[in-house]
Amino acid sequence: MVLIECPHCAEDIELDDASFGLFECPFCEEEFEWGEMDEEINPELSRDKVMWAFFNATLVFILILVILFSLTTDFFGCKSPNGVC
Ligand SMILES: [Zn+2]
Repeated sequence: MVLIECPHCAEDIELDDASFGLFECPFCEEEFEWGEMDEEINPELSRDKVMWAFFNATLVFILILVILFSLTTDFFGCKSPNGVC
């Protein structure tokens, strides 16, 4: 058994060691989540993945902007090798 504190009324609640999921507090009848450490690590990992995808998307966006800008510059007739017209 494991003794935890209700996040709503701060009463002590006894749960099985292997218990995880949604529980109802017997004192205030509010629901609360209790689980294994895996459930707390996974959102952290997926948030890193989202940040990494966002970083990559930003890089690609900047790359496309640079390509578009150089194409537009060529379109307006800038043929200078150092990019200054
Ligand atoms: Zn409670």
